[in-house]
Amino acid sequence: MRTKISAAATAILALAVMPASRAPIPASGSQLGLANNHEVKRVIIMVADGMGLADVTAARIKKNGIGGPLLHFETLEEIGYQRSYSEKNTVTDSAAAASAWACGEKFINDEICQHGDGRPHNLSLLELAQVEGWATGLVTTQTVTNATPAAFGAHVVNRDCEAEVARQYVEVTRPDVLLGGGRTAFTQTSPDPCGMSGNFLNEATGSGYTYVANASDLNAAVAAQTRRLLGLFRGAYMTPEVIRPPSSVEPHLSQMTAAAITTLDRINDQFFVMIEGGLIDLANHVEWLDAQVAEVSAFDDAVGVVLGWIGASEERKQHTLLIVLADHETGGFAVMGTETAGIEPLGTFSGGWTFLMPPPAPGTTVVARHTGTDTMIWSQGPGSAALGRAIDNTDVYQVVRAVLR
Ligand SMILES: [Zn+2]
Repeated sequence: MRTKISAAATAILALAVMPASRAPIPASGSQLGLANNHEVKRVIIMVADGMGLADVTAARIKKNGIGGPLLHFETLEEIGYQRSYSEKNTVTDSAAAASAWACGEKFINDEICQHGDGRPHNLSLLELAQVEGWATGLVTTQTVTNATPAAFGAHVVNRDCEAEVARQYVEVTRPDVLLGGGRTAFTQTSPDPCGMSGNFLNEATGSGYTYVANASDLNAAVAAQTRRLLGLFRGAYMTPEVIRPPSSVEPHLSQMTAAAITTLDRINDQFFVMIEGGLIDLANHVEWLDAQVAEVSAFDDAVGVVLGWIGASEERKQHTLLIVLADHETGGFAVMGTETAGIEPLGTFSGGWTFLMPPPAPGTTVVARHTGTDTMIWSQGPGSAALGRAIDNTDVYQVVRAVLR
């Protein structure tokens, strides 16, 4: 679906002379050459971990009603989907999937942009952005050292090496903004599987990072124009929205997103940031519909913040590549209901997962696994036309690398 063609693109469309023997090329600004006229100054990658298309349907019905408006990310200009298989499995994990995006090739499950057999790997997109002099950031509701952000900011053969990932963030890649859960990995005293432990929180604050641990301190740090920001809001992953009390001091993903973009933009008008809704996957693993809907909805709120920021200026619209995508589907989730008219009100549905064993109580046991179903990509901005089709997850790297140069 391409709902928003810019005025410039429409004008070019009107002037275009199509050879009569060829089918018209689907119209988008980028395909019409606008990508070449407007260099990309920002890349914002937003990851919905473990979100299948049925999750989108469920969240839209619950948030906006069955005939209601689209979710924010559904309004992006280009829509495509990707194969997600990993180097040795039909079904990927988040490590191999994020590594395919970040470093441009297939990896074995559990690997974070590093091959266990020692083969060389590419620099990640975040590292390439740093080579270009851009500011960089990683934001997630998972631990900030978890597989998805780690693939952009670290290289380890085992995703469980979260202390080593923390060390590499602080000592090697040093993203300007790091926000999420995962205080434990920054302060752990027992070695991780890579043999790493240490107090990387102290090391971070001793080397220029401002550390915050709650939403009000995050806001204060942004207001104080902090230029290197480390926010760790919980020991493990952040509290799922569905069980978060009103008194919670943890920021929502949308708040972290606003803080990250404000800070990065202040540092440098050229920046790369990866923002992850990391707990959609968790909700599907435990087959908890209310949690899944709440996490997709919170993720969409964050996309809304980004779209509002981009939409506030023509310059941002022309120079910002926004990509919203999922790494894999989790659980084989489906939206289910009766087909008999009048049995239940329109919009009524239940959630079902292909992994059929229900947990004894919502959220108590991991019973569902990832699936190998292709996953969605929504995108807009220069370069995005290449993502509005059926691609491989490694192609995302090629597209972003091309616009970073
Ligand atoms: Zn998972």
